[in-house]
Amino acid sequence: MEVLRANIKDNIKDNNKDNIIYIYIITMSKIFVFDLDDTLLLSNSYKKYEDITAHGYLKNLINKINYPKYIYTNGTQGHAEYALKYMNLEDMFVKIFSRSEYMKPNPRSINLVNNTILQDNNYNKTTIYFFDDILENLKVAKDFGWKTIWINARNVNISDDLYYIDHIYNNIYLALININF
Ligand SMILES: [Mg+2]
Repeated sequence: MEVLRANIKDNIKDNNKDNIIYIYIITMSKIFVFDLDDTLLLSNSYKKYEDITAHGYLKNLINKINYPKYIYTNGTQGHAEYALKYMNLEDMFVKIFSRSEYMKPNPRSINLVNNTILQDNNYNKTTIYFFDDILENLKVAKDFGWKTIWINARNVNISDDLYYIDHIYNNIYLALININF
């Protein structure tokens, strides 16, 4: 178990024996960041938004992650909002980072997302888990110390040294089932 921070939340004084009981709250701070296209939603699985079917199973798996969750996509804000609505995942994420001046894998983009997440979480020590189907995105994220999970949706065979990848899964379901959070 990773212990990142221990706060003395409260202490209770026993009047009779003058004993002090300290109660420690252990905070294990983790953050989960998901790419959208070809990570949570296969691009070739629909032609128009109305075709997208909601998978309760995926919602359950994401729901089980009891930490803040974000979307980080190079798509537009509108695309992300529509897609998540039809996937019935619209209320699951703290924030959507979408296409802006800088996009993945530009380090400026990841730096901005990294800083915003740290700010959102009061600069507590956090481990950021990042799920994406594009290796270049994960490579830059690793430079920021993120844990990288490659969703190899197209089952690409790569002979390169994937030193910057922590986990590889063929789809988001396998990733969420198998990673030990
Ligand atoms: Mg993608």
